[in-house]
Amino acid sequence: MNFTDILPYLYQHSFHAWEIQYQADTRGNAYKVIFPALLRSCLSTHALSAIIFHLCTGHCHLNHHMSRIGLHPDGLCDRCEVPETVEHVTEVCTRV
Ligand SMILES: [Zn+2]
Repeated sequence: MNFTDILPYLYQHSFHAWEIQYQADTRGNAYKVIFPALLRSCLSTHALSAIIFHLCTGHCHLNHHMSRIGLHPDGLCDRCEVPETVEHVTEVCTRV
């Protein structure tokens, strides 16, 4: 058996371990609404690309951006009362 033969097993094992950790983590629950499982999105490639673009640029419907364009009074997360940025929602916030 060579490396090429065991690569699929290594991938499967790593992916499984990562998915267990992903599901167990209580942070980033809003991100999990968009991506409920790792790499198994039901979104089209175009829709997924659009979401990723908006998350990367911060130009999305989160309060921080809505405040910058005058559509939210303070831009803060309703639960944590800190700026509701993509980083906050995907990495810190426990709401949803
Ligand atoms: Zn929050």
